[in-house]
Order: sequence, then structure tokens, then C-alpha cells
Amino acid sequence: MSFRDLPSVERLLQRATKLEAMYGRPLTLEAIRDRLDAAREAIREGEPPPEEGILIEEAHKTLELWLTPTLRPVINATGVIIHTNLGRAPLSKTARQAMIDVAGSYSTLEYNLKRGVRGKREDHAEELLTRLTGGEAAFVVNNNAAAVLLALTAMARRKEVIVSRSQLIEIGGGFRIPDIMKQSGAKLVEVGTTNRTHLRDYEAAIHERTGLILRAHHSNFKIIGFTTEPSLGELVDLGKRHDIPVLDDLGSGALLDTVQFGLGHEPMVQESMEAGASLVAFSGDKLLGGPQAGIIIGKKSFVDRLRKHPLARAVRPDKLCLAALVATLTHYLRDAAVQEIPIWQMIAAPLDQLQTRSETWAKRLGQGEVISGRSTVGGGSLPEETLPTSMLALSVKYPNAFTSHLRKADPPIIARIEDDRVVLDPRTVLVEQEEDLLRALTELL
Ligand SMILES: *Cc1c(COP(=O)(O)O)cnc(C)c1O
Repeated sequence: MSFRDLPSVERLLQRATKLEAMYGRPLTLEAIRDRLDAAREAIREGEPPPEEGILIEEAHKTLELWLTPTLRPVINATGVIIHTNLGRAPLSKTARQAMIDVAGSYSTLEYNLKRGVRGKREDHAEELLTRLTGGEAAFVVNNNAAAVLLALTAMARRKEVIVSRSQLIEIGGGFRIPDIMKQSGAKLVEVGTTNRTHLRDYEAAIHERTGLILRAHHSNFKIIGFTTEPSLGELVDLGKRHDIPVLDDLGSGALLDTVQFGLGHEPMVQESMEAGASLVAFSGDKLLGGPQAGIIIGKKSFVDRLRKHPLARAVRPDKLCLAALVATLTHYLRDAAVQEIPIWQMIAAPLDQLQTRSETWAKRLGQGEVISGRSTVGGGSLPEETLPTSMLALSVKYPNAFTSHLRKADPPIIARIEDDRVVLDPRTVLVEQEEDLLRALTELL
């Protein structure tokens, strides 16, 4: 056997007219070369040369593989509502439509229709945000990490920022308060201890180089036992006495009270405003349920300082983000967040409804047991807090292999394994994805 038994690139390309039509000439050529290389390698190892038809089929598979996007929708059956690895908050129907509307057309992103002159991208969300939160001014950036970086840079570069040792947090994905502080050019001044920090600790650290007091929400962990931290209101009072602004990094930042859904209380943006924080920063895609964004609310003079800082241009949000954010905020203003925003629908889903869904799944599949379990909120909010749920548990021989097959479905399905069973939580499965889920499960079982 020798390489001469292999067809030429030209010959394969002639036979691959369909592929060329679908994928274009340059990429088809590359795939054919790729497969011929692999065939030569196989021949070297003593295998017979593949037939032309097989080579073309292989080239087709290669092209499909190359062009399948790695970023694609999945079915989240994990019961983790704000799943950072799965893209955090799914958007409401209105928010998705708003994105589509501005995506395919020119828009008023920076255009003032009334006066026919240049407008500001900042204007679209600001009034909605101030109306909802009671802040004097609002500014939107790319994400909350950028919001905190911008706030620290604009407010406290070359100055000192006081933070409690209990709040030197790390959020998943590399956001760490000490690191972001270093980037901003502000000097971190740690006060107190891991479990207890008193107002007098802050007070003792204040001097003429102090630029800011930072409070960071613990987000994804809880300190329990012998603990204390001053309230935001106390920090604000202290700041006022010394003319030092207070930045509250809320992380998730809920606009609705989570207690009404049987959860613990996640700090709310409105509360931080009432407590008098100079600036509050939070994410758009955590408990707000909107697109990735960082939202800053606060006193006008401080927000304006951020707005004017050169870094603001580097972290500005795009039109798709703004369109989705505005639509999401509108749900809150209409008092329809729980009805319209997917993450709130999921948080509010009544247990009997979840049970009906998992029972329907079991019936449709003709197998599986409906069991009770717990869903979590995720997204760096409400650690240790869970919601009672009803799940479908499938006893399969090889649970790991089964979940791996589920991940190969179209759309891929992400499920959990609990006590050697594959469990699927209907709470995070969007109703419109249910048929796809059941079809894939039927095929696999
Ligand atoms: C999540 C979080 C951040 C980072 O927000 P992103 O939107 O992910 O950039 C910052 N601070 C706190 C306290 C958080 O919980």
C-alpha cells in the first residue's frame, strides 16, 4: 500500500461539489487536505487507503465540526437558576425581541430624534433606573466587575479605600476585591478581622488620604457564628462625618424582595439607596434577570465623575445590551417582573406546578421516579438558600455515560447526578424546551 493509492485533492474536490456549495471552496479544500493527511498517517501505520466516498464523508463531518458554534443554547435541568457557566439569566420574550429589533436595523443608539442631533447612549436606561431605585443618577457599563473597577478608579485612584477583611471576596471567574483594587490604582486598607469588623475599625483607618469606603456583598458565602459588620447606614453616617463617599458593591442586587418566595433576604438596590450609599453597583444578569451589564446608581455628582472618566468609554455597553436592559427594566416598572422575567418565574414557580411537570415527564417517558429535591438560586446570591422542588430521577446503569449522552443532544441537556441517579429539575427547564428534552430522553432511554 502506498500514498499513490490515495485520490488527489483535485479529484476529491471535483466530487465534493455539494460540500463546496455549502461551505465554500477554501474551507472545503482545507477539510479535504486535513482528511488526506489523516489517511496518509493511517497508511503509515499499516491501514488500507480509504475509498473516495469515505474521504468525502469524513470531510463533510470535519466541516460540520469546524462550523458548529461552541456558543449555543442548552437545556438547563440542573435546578440552578442563575447558572454562571450556562449564561446566567435567560431573557424575557420582550427583551429578546428588543434585541432583535435594534440588531437588524439602524437605531437611535446615539441619536436624538426630536432635535435631529447627536444623542447619548447613556440616556436610554438612566431614567428607568432612577425611577425604579430612587437613585439620583444611573450609569450602565459592560458588567459589574467593570462597574466596580470604574468606580474605584474614578473615585479613589492614588487614594486609600477602606474595606472590611470579611469582605475581601472572590467571585467565580477571577473577580477578587484586592486584585480589582490594584488595577484601579487605589490602595486597599483592610480593617477588622475575618469574622468581626466594628465601625470603630473603619473610623480608626480614616485619614486625609482616604478616598472611599467600600462595602462588598459576600454574595456566595456566609459567615456564621460570632460575627459582626457595621450596617451600610452606619458606614454612610461615618462617611458623612468625614466627607468620604461609600460605594456598595451589591453583586446580585435584587429589585424584588426574595423573602416573598420563601428565600432569605437578598440585599435590594432600593435599600442601599435608602441607606444613603453614594454609589451602588450591581449586575444586569444576576437577580435583575436581564443582559450582562454593570449598573451604577447613586448621587449625581459621583455618577457624573464616573461617566466622564476615560475608562467609561472602554467599558461601555453595546446596543443589544441596552435594548434588552431597557425591556427588562420595563417589566419591573409595570409591576410584571414575576410574570415576565424568566428567573423570577422560576423562583416563584409553585411546588405543585413543578410536581405536575415532573409527573408529566415520568408519564411521557414511561419511567423514572418523581422525587422531592432542592433548587438553588446561584449567581453569587443567597448562598445555602434553596427552594423545594420536584424532580424526575432516572435510574440508569451508567449515570455518567448517560449525562454525557445528554450533553450531546441537540440542544444539549445539562443534568445532575444524585445518589447514582440522573435527576432533572423542571424549575430551570424553559417550557418551550420541554418537547426537545422529552424527545432526547425518549431516544436515549
Ligand atoms: C457577581 C459579582 C461581581 C461581578 O459581577 P459581574 O457582573 O460578573 O462582572 C462583583 N461583585 C460582587 C459582590 C458580585 O457578587
